Amino acid sequence: MLRSFKIEKHHTGIVPESTLFKTLKYLDRKTIKTPFLLLDSNKIAEKVSLIGSFIRNSRVFYAVKANPDISVIKLLNKLKAGFEIASEGELELLSSIKVEPSRIISSNPVKTLIFLKTAAKYGVNYFSFDSYDEVDKLKEFVPGCNVYVRLTVPNEGSEWPLSKKFGVEIDHAIKLLLYAKENGLNPVGITFHVGSQCTNIYNWNSALDKAKALWELAVKKGLNLKMLNIGGGYPIKYTKNVVSIEAIEKNIDSLIQERFPENVEIYIEPGRAVVGDAGIFVTKVIGKAKRGDEDWLYIDVGVFNGLMESVGGIKYSYIVENQKNIKAKKQWTIAGPSCDSFDVIDKNVILNEPEVGNLVLIPSSGAYTISYASEFNGFSIPKTILI
Ligand SMILES: *Cc1c(COP(=O)(O)O)cnc(C)c1O
Repeated sequence: MLRSFKIEKHHTGIVPESTLFKTLKYLDRKTIKTPFLLLDSNKIAEKVSLIGSFIRNSRVFYAVKANPDISVIKLLNKLKAGFEIASEGELELLSSIKVEPSRIISSNPVKTLIFLKTAAKYGVNYFSFDSYDEVDKLKEFVPGCNVYVRLTVPNEGSEWPLSKKFGVEIDHAIKLLLYAKENGLNPVGITFHVGSQCTNIYNWNSALDKAKALWELAVKKGLNLKMLNIGGGYPIKYTKNVVSIEAIEKNIDSLIQERFPENVEIYIEPGRAVVGDAGIFVTKVIGKAKRGDEDWLYIDVGVFNGLMESVGGIKYSYIVENQKNIKAKKQWTIAGPSCDSFDVIDKNVILNEPEVGNLVLIPSSGAYTISYASEFNGFSIPKTILI
């Protein structure tokens, strides 16, 4: 008999019926050892073919850090996606299945020397940068390589802003491109990142405005750019509706047609949007407690072993297992299994009261969960299972 869950109306807009069906089928086995992450391979394939389909002359490079599980990498390799990497560890994953170097780029503006050495040896030839020192490093380890400069762009409206750590303004960026050329590198383009889980479609407008200003300046200075890398940032649905990828890309495409030369090559580096909404965490209730007025629910995955992004503002939704006599709804504080008080996932979550031992499903948890997980306090990192 299939386990049953309390599926509410708002859940159906988050997790597709086909994913839910596969999940229930998977859970219909005698022994399951929670917590683990289920990833729907069909959903990933669907997203990869959707992304880029509304932007002319574009290529997709999956940002490996969103979920570097080897099963995901193998699937995306079979689907002929490109990959965006930042470290020798990520490169090793790709080289272990012989991904062609022409399908790999690195947009981490500050790279380790060991990564540069191994990337050069493997044949990776596209790198972002945003400093003079990085040009010097690239000149030494990957002489003559293709480089693109990272611009700062507004990150307002992103639930996971990134811009403060990387990127430079236009006047600085042009100097860097020229310095790269003087040092024998091949300046090919411009990149930016609007911030992860970007729900404001206008962030791309201001980013493309800035990129266009830099592009024109570069043409004036005699540089021959050919590529615009628009980074990642496409959002997925966690609890609230978000703007669709189709709407975002149609807007981007029309802005690019208006502002850039006809033959510009567009690179897209989605991470979250490829794997995020294909994932369902399967967790178990390990305890309940009343503390003052608050009802606390403890589950076996928490901030340290998978749900790190909850402390940065990502709000998940929860599907509780049905019992014979379903209990009333309550307002819960949901916490993870560790002894650390930082390990609180969410507050004011309205759910039917589960029993200890019941499962709790957490949809839209395929990105930035396992890749952030640690074994803090002796809780092992949950397995990823492609279904
Ligand atoms: C993390 C990252 C991405 C992916 O961002 P998402 O918001 O997950 O799509 C793309 N490019 C770079 C350079 C990144 O650091």
